[in-house]
Formats: sequence, structure tokens, C-alpha cells
Amino acid sequence: MDIVVIGGGAAGMMAAVAAAGAESSAASGNQVFLIEKNEKLGKKLFITGKGRCNVTNACEVEDFFQNVMEHAKFLYSAVYGFDNRAVMDFFENAGCPLKVERGQRVFPKSDHSSDIIRALERELGRLGVHVLLNTEVRRLRTIPVENGAEAGSSKGGKKKLTCRAGISAIELYDRRTRRKSEMNADRLIVATGGCSYVLTGSTGDGYRFAAECGHSIIPTMPALVPFAVKEDWCHALQGLSLKNVQVSVELDGRQIYNDFGEMLFTHYGVSGPLILSASSHYVHQPGRAGNGTARLLIDLKPALTQEQLDKRILREFDENKNKQFKNVINSLFPAKLVPVMPVLAKIDAGKRVNEITREERERFVRTIKCMELTITGVRDYDEAVITKGGVATSEVSSSTMESRLVRGLYFAGEVLDLDALTGGFNLQIAWSTGYLAGISAAC
Ligand SMILES: Cc1cc2nc3c(=O)[nH]c(=O)nc-3n(C[C@H](O)[C@H](O)[C@H](O)COP(=O)(O)OP(=O)(O)OC[C@H]3O[C@@H](n4cnc5c(N)ncnc54)[C@H](O)[C@@H]3O)c2cc1C
Repeated sequence: MDIVVIGGGAAGMMAAVAAAGAESSAASGNQVFLIEKNEKLGKKLFITGKGRCNVTNACEVEDFFQNVMEHAKFLYSAVYGFDNRAVMDFFENAGCPLKVERGQRVFPKSDHSSDIIRALERELGRLGVHVLLNTEVRRLRTIPVENGAEAGSSKGGKKKLTCRAGISAIELYDRRTRRKSEMNADRLIVATGGCSYVLTGSTGDGYRFAAECGHSIIPTMPALVPFAVKEDWCHALQGLSLKNVQVSVELDGRQIYNDFGEMLFTHYGVSGPLILSASSHYVHQPGRAGNGTARLLIDLKPALTQEQLDKRILREFDENKNKQFKNVINSLFPAKLVPVMPVLAKIDAGKRVNEITREERERFVRTIKCMELTITGVRDYDEAVITKGGVATSEVSSSTMESRLVRGLYFAGEVLDLDALTGGFNLQIAWSTGYLAGISAAC
């Protein structure tokens, strides 16, 4: 049997390794092909974790599901079948030692994502997977229902699913010779990724393949992505990184996110770990407006209550009575914030502190505790760590990753309507679904 995997990313490489390593493959002489349109495997993997690859998270498996934004239940079989411990064992056994860092994030000991790719390549070679680089899959051919020997129908979700008989072939395009060709496939695993960071090869082809096979595609959106904001004063703060701040997001007055950590001001708005997580909660809100009703609130001094902060400021004012406001507050903030804070608090920066009224001081305290920004939307796919949406999970079997519509067609990784928060959870989704698709296809 010929098992073809489209996409040499995390999910595709793992699927090919699992398919080729399955006992059934050894017994029945399955041939496994891994097709990648780039000149090398794992281009996106290479840039993960800022080049260090946060390969998974060493948390309890139950905590893993807490970090999945939607359809966590769909992942139960995949994750319990090949969990974070299994992933760690896999890489350690494949010659890539790992280490666990803050937040249970797992990285290669070498801090080089290339070592994760090399480990996978070694396994692909050891198991005799045929890797075809520079080869783009242009189209899938399915056997339509009327010609299909085993055509039938099944129910899944609300939609009545019509099952096609299966996959017959795929159309290929060799990017070096510019030649087109065709390849037979008894089983086909689509692991083409999402739409983010298009230069890594994520051009959303899998959504088209799936749609052409009759699958529903949940509309895609960039996720784990910076926010664009309305306020112009942000430009002055470009490059400023704030550690230990508290960030919350309100949508139509309802809090949808609140956490503590690090953020960054950019030329268009805000980014950094807290903001990326906040954005995933934002894009998962059905009523997300993007028209000025979403607010980002930043507490610059979360360790102090309003009263404690007021006392601290009063002390500063008492010690520096005759100094100008702008010269007193520079002990409270990083330099870039100093000219911005008086403007936001509507206090004359040149005023002597002994002339500042109680009302002004209280307004200043409120500004520090609640710096407000208007979210106008999220930035584009090219800045997004992950793509929200994709192949509807209701039309894919969670116990095998096989399509409920087309026999012999499987999906794995980001092409599915699955996304998670940062911390190694998205790669865990790719490893687990890739592994399950691989062993299922080999049966
Ligand atoms: C900057 C950045 C940093 C990240 N860091 C982390 C991290 O540290 N930890 C973490 O858990 N997650 C991280 N992620 C997310 C993680 O990279 C993805 O979840 C993961 O790569 C998805 O794997 P995949 O195999 O589904 O897709 P991909 O890795 O995108 O692989 C898909 C492959 O399919 C190929 N392909 C597409 N179409 C075709 C076609 N028609 N024919 C042939 N080949 C095709 C592509 O070229 C690509 O190589 C990061 C993402 C980004 C953008």
C-alpha cells in the first residue's frame, strides 16, 4: 500500500515516521512518501521558539487540554495515544536531548531547533520514508460517490455526510524541472499547515484540498498575533518592553482575558507574550467587534493597590516638592513612558509637584493602574504564530484522524480547526495528530 503524506512540517514528518514505523507497515510492505514543496523539510519548525523550538510542554496531560482554545475533546485520542512524555521520549531516543524550562516549556538541550529537524530526518531515513522535496501537490483526485465501490453515507454533527469511495491519485508539480506528474495514493495524509508565516510554505493549500473533497472549512483568522490599536501615542513607545504588568481585554464591557507578564509596544500597537495570548482569546469570541468596542487595559503597577501606589507617589512628591512633575515621575517608569504619562493623566508635565492637586494625583494613579487602549483588530497572518479555523473537526474521526467524507484521507496538524496557547502546545497538537494519522493510515 502507498501512504502519501503532504507537507514536511511537524505533523507531516511525525505522520510519515509513525506510518513507516507501524508494525502493519513492516508486515505488509507499505511504502511511505513524504512530499514537501520547499527545498528542505521543517522550514517553520526551524523558526519556532525564536529558533530554539519549544517542542512541547511537560505539564500534566489534563493541563494541556486547558491550553487548547477549542475542540479539546477532539484531541483526547490523539493526545492520550501520543502525549508530551511520548514526544519527549521520541526525541531523546532519536538523539536529541531535551531540557525543561520555566512554565514547563521543553526545548532541545542545544537550544537549536535544527536539532529537532535533524532527529526527525534521521528517523525518516532509518524507516525508509521516500522524501520528495521541491514537489508541490496541486490537486487531489477522489473517486466520486457514484463510481465508488463502497460509497455510502454517515452522520456527523448536524450535516449529513456523503462519503466518497476514496482517494485515487494526487497531481504533483516539480518546482525545479517545472514538470507535472501524477502519483497514486492508497492513503493520503494532508499535513499542509495553516496560513501563518507564508514564507515557510504555509499557503493554506490543505484548506482547498479539503474543500474540494467536500469538507467544511471553519473560516480562518490569524491567532497568537499582535493587536493593532487606535491610539497614536503608542508610536512614541515603540520598542518599549514592559515586564510584570497586568493586561486585561474587555469586549463590550465583558472581561475576556486577564493575566500578568510581559508585553511590548510596536509601531502599530502591541505585542509580546501577554498580548499574543490575549489575541487568541479575542479571535475566539464570536461577537468580536473590531470596531472600537474592545479595550485593552494595562496595569503598570500590579503589585501595588491603588492606595499603596497613591502613598508611594505622595512620598515621592513630598521628597521633591519643588521639582517639576516630569522630573519626579522618572523614578516610576522606564524613560519612554515618562513624557507619555502626564499627557494621559492630563497633567502639565512642567508643573511643580507641590502645585499638583489631589484630584490630579488621583487621576495619575488611575492612569497607572488602568492605561487604556482601543483594539482595532489583529495583525495579519505574517505576524501570527498560528491560524485559527481550518478543516472542521466534526467531519474528521477523532480516533483515527480519517475524513468522515473520503475514505483513506487523513488530516493532521494546523490544517485542522485546532489552535492552542503558547508554551509548546501547538507543536504537541501537530505531533499527536500526526502520529495518530500515521499509524491509522498504515493499518
Ligand atoms: C514564528 C513561529 C514560532 C512558533 N513557535 C512555536 C513553538 O515554539 N512551540 C509551538 O508549540 N508552536 C510554535 N509555533 C506553531 C507551530 O510552528 C505550528 O503549530 C506547527 O508548525 C504546525 O505544524 P504543521 O506540520 O501542521 O504545519 P507546518 O509546520 O506549517 O508544515 C506544513 C508543511 O506543508 C508544506 N506544504 C504546504 N502546502 C503544500 C503542498 N501543496 N505541497 C507540498 N507541501 C506543502 C509546507 O511547505 C510546510 O512545510 C510557532 C509558529 C510560528 C509562526
